[in-house]
Amino acid sequence: MHMQYFIPFWPGDDLYEEFDPWKDECKGRQKRIWECFKKPPIDGVLVSRVNIDQTNHLKVDAKKQGIHAALRFDGPVMGDCGAFSYVNKSKPLYEPIETLRFYKDLDFDVGVTVDHLIVKTIKMPDKTRRALTDAEKEERWNLTIEYAKRMFDEAQKSDYEKLRLIGVSQGWDAESYARGIRELLDYGFDYVGLGGLARKPNKLIKESLLRVRTEIMDHVKKKKLRENISPRIGVHLFGVARTDFLETMVQCGITSFDSASPLRIAWTSSNKNYMMNDHFYAAVRIRIAETEEERIKEEKVFRKLSDFRKGLITANEFVEELSRYKPKTYAQWKEDALRTLNDKPWEKCDCSICTEIGMHVCIFRGCERNMRRGFHNVYQFHKVLRERFPKVLALTWCTGKKDPEEKLLPAYRRYSASNIFKTFWESVYDLPVEIGVLSAKYLLINWDTRISMYEERLTTDKLPEAIKDLEGKLRLYDKVYFIGLGIYREAIEKAAKNMNIPIEVYPKQELSRGKLDIIEYNRQMKEFREAIRKEIAPYLEAMTTCKQTELNAF
Ligand SMILES: [Zn+2]
Repeated sequence: MHMQYFIPFWPGDDLYEEFDPWKDECKGRQKRIWECFKKPPIDGVLVSRVNIDQTNHLKVDAKKQGIHAALRFDGPVMGDCGAFSYVNKSKPLYEPIETLRFYKDLDFDVGVTVDHLIVKTIKMPDKTRRALTDAEKEERWNLTIEYAKRMFDEAQKSDYEKLRLIGVSQGWDAESYARGIRELLDYGFDYVGLGGLARKPNKLIKESLLRVRTEIMDHVKKKKLRENISPRIGVHLFGVARTDFLETMVQCGITSFDSASPLRIAWTSSNKNYMMNDHFYAAVRIRIAETEEERIKEEKVFRKLSDFRKGLITANEFVEELSRYKPKTYAQWKEDALRTLNDKPWEKCDCSICTEIGMHVCIFRGCERNMRRGFHNVYQFHKVLRERFPKVLALTWCTGKKDPEEKLLPAYRRYSASNIFKTFWESVYDLPVEIGVLSAKYLLINWDTRISMYEERLTTDKLPEAIKDLEGKLRLYDKVYFIGLGIYREAIEKAAKNMNIPIEVYPKQELSRGKLDIIEYNRQMKEFREAIRKEIAPYLEAMTTCKQTELNAF
């Protein structure tokens, strides 16, 4: 699978539609990050239950219309419990089965099992800290695995159709993390997660990822022998997102991750506030005046800022003026500020924020500017991620022959009864791409969407609905490869006409020996795979480099 980036959602992370940076005035409705760019600079949103419970309007909206409508986001939404909020308590705030129901009722796409963080120390009611004992660590580990198993069992009921579950492993060293992952995989999870690593040292993160990778590879080998189709395992890394860590994550088989740090460094870092490709600039601090005397100086700073923007004065001259305003707080930022002002990085960014407010995105002052800079950072982070690891979809049609199993099955298992589907699956399952199926009943679903048995074929009546669904979902990809025939192919071709993302449709007439039929479908599968491999060549290279060196760099 390609690597997906989820942004953790906080109720206050939004900005006003209109903002006048010269007057510091804002109005209009408030927009969330996915509403500020042509294409969302994220692949999904992670919402913690604790945030919903504590934000009344969100809670009411989500209960009434579902989480997607409440967030105004139609991409994947993942739910977790926000384990940091109860880290000091002996047990999690939430019950496992009741939480699963909560995910289902609010229409989450992915639910994270209820977990308990294993930290070095916890805060006592009297504000002092004490270390967790080894027994307590083991107890938290056990509780996390036990809750995951209970949720897994419950989620097998047909009521939980389409909800995907991530089984979380918590730990204190690489071995304990790997042990948890092994338990979860053996229990049946095909999407697992590593929690609590966000605040742990880099060395432990890397060691744990490596150990987990071995665990997953062993599991996949065993599973492949047991089942008549090659398996895929999803792995989510909670709370870690750094551009210098992406290769390691890819090499260790991480398929999704979340982190708010690209957003928050905009105002929490001392000098890494504005991201450009994979390096940073400091934002120039112009603090808000508090006294009348300061207000006069502040006005002058803004006049000089305007002069600087027009090219009437140099960065140096502006910084001189700035250092006369609140000088004590300013002195340490001088060099960083000069670098930012001289380089003018905002002129090199094509995002809607930089295009709209230009230089002001690099001014450290008030929520509207700082949040805009954070949104820009997320845009840059996602751009770096996608340039290195493009988001490609390999898509096919659903098949008449299905596994009649009564329980919910992931789509790839449901369709595995058909040789037509199996030919497709075995050609793409090992590639770092998303795999989708255009289904008569569910329209576009992912390989891992858990579905019931059904009998339905796509008809002309349903065609407009299928096209609309495709238009909404395909726009989130950098490139789409479809292989299939008939009305399913027609739906893709019609959707492709209204979209400006590249969509390649197989089998191709120019490669065929005659009529486009099932023989051509099978024959061109090789070309289909090769075309995708070519598109993602650097991605594949990053993955195989690892196999050669066995990550000796660690
Ligand atoms: Zn920008």
